[in-house]
Amino acid sequence: MEIEIATVGGYEEVGRQMTAVRMDDEIVVFDMGLNLSQVLIHDNVQTETMHSLDLIDMGAIPDDRIMSELDGEVTAIVPTHGHLDHIGAIPKLAHRYDAPVVATPFTIELVRDQIADEDKFDVDIDLQVMNSGEQMRISDRVQMEFVNVTHSTIDAINPVLHTPEGAIVYGLDKRLDHDPVLGDPIDMKRFREIGREDDGVLCYIEDCTNANQKGRTPSESVARKELHDTMLSLEDYDGGMVATTFASHIARVSSLLEFAQEIGRKPILLGRSMEKYTGTATNLDVDLPDEIEMYGHRRAIDQSLERIMEDGKENFLPIVTGHQGEPRALLTRMGRGETNYDFNNGDKVIFSAGIIPEPTNEGNRYQSERLLKMQGARIYDDIHVSGHLSQEGHYQMLEALQPQQLIPAHQDLKGLSGYVNTANAFGYEVGRDMHLSRNGNIIQLTE
Ligand SMILES: [Zn+2]
Repeated sequence: MEIEIATVGGYEEVGRQMTAVRMDDEIVVFDMGLNLSQVLIHDNVQTETMHSLDLIDMGAIPDDRIMSELDGEVTAIVPTHGHLDHIGAIPKLAHRYDAPVVATPFTIELVRDQIADEDKFDVDIDLQVMNSGEQMRISDRVQMEFVNVTHSTIDAINPVLHTPEGAIVYGLDKRLDHDPVLGDPIDMKRFREIGREDDGVLCYIEDCTNANQKGRTPSESVARKELHDTMLSLEDYDGGMVATTFASHIARVSSLLEFAQEIGRKPILLGRSMEKYTGTATNLDVDLPDEIEMYGHRRAIDQSLERIMEDGKENFLPIVTGHQGEPRALLTRMGRGETNYDFNNGDKVIFSAGIIPEPTNEGNRYQSERLLKMQGARIYDDIHVSGHLSQEGHYQMLEALQPQQLIPAHQDLKGLSGYVNTANAFGYEVGRDMHLSRNGNIIQLTE
């Protein structure tokens, strides 16, 4: 079987992920993501109304024109999880292919939302749910399997294509978590089996976001424990307390909801994305605390903050958007004094999120914290663990899969360097069995 891999997007940056695998006449596309920072540096860009080619020129979505060089038909578009850098370009690109989007239930619902928000293209795509552990026939000789992995959102999988030449494992995004708070632990047993069955693993495409971090990425249960301890230590505080985290990080939101109730505060989720992600999880019967109050629209948010001030802010924990200091997010607006919520000296703000290392985020977050501190707030930051593998996790994945060939992804060249060193130590060499690719390349695996 002739197998080629097109590294379409996300091979020169973190963001706008897209990879296509051609197996004879059949093509499977993994991820179609957005590079949000390329959107946010422009003022007031409404991606919903923009044309794909303009977004490609901005570097915001993958340049999929390379797909015309692959001689085959796309049979499935497979986003691995619901983060925007993996699904955000689906409304702009997927309708050009006559293929269904296949993903886990939570991811499918987020794709559905993305398509509903699209204003430029008339998108009518078949959305197919497939759960982790399940398989799907791609062609006579190819099966696709979803292996359960753990990441900073729920329902993440790594898709595996079983071909006559061996397995192709698409490893974006994950960490090795055996106590993930929500959902099942990573299925390392299945990865080890795949590494040892029949023809083994022909190629492994790896998430190198944190490949320059040494050691091992801690479990979500570690962040949960630190959050619990922090919030218990503030149990007797008789004033305002506000928390923020990634809206898509359902496990973390769940911990915040639970601990707020434990220390006698009513949690309220505020902000459009808080309502969207937690609302979606609730509709899918994800195991979350009962009767969560949440508001996404500006007027409802303002009314809720007004009620919190009237009833006594010591009785509430607003869980809000703005963990990266995004200028238009609620926490930043609260910091600027644009809402009814007033901070007093000593009020607490909990950032259960790290700063995504990028100059824009770093600047925004600095400003947001300054604004909050100027009003007297005390900042508890970085109560967080990453959703991505560090070097020892990468090494463990190589031990489990023992792939014949490697393609590092999800970083720029500098970010990939830590992975190259780790893989070198395992015995791989660039140019021999490790391919350092760029956006728009095609790698021929078998002829
Ligand atoms: Zn992700």
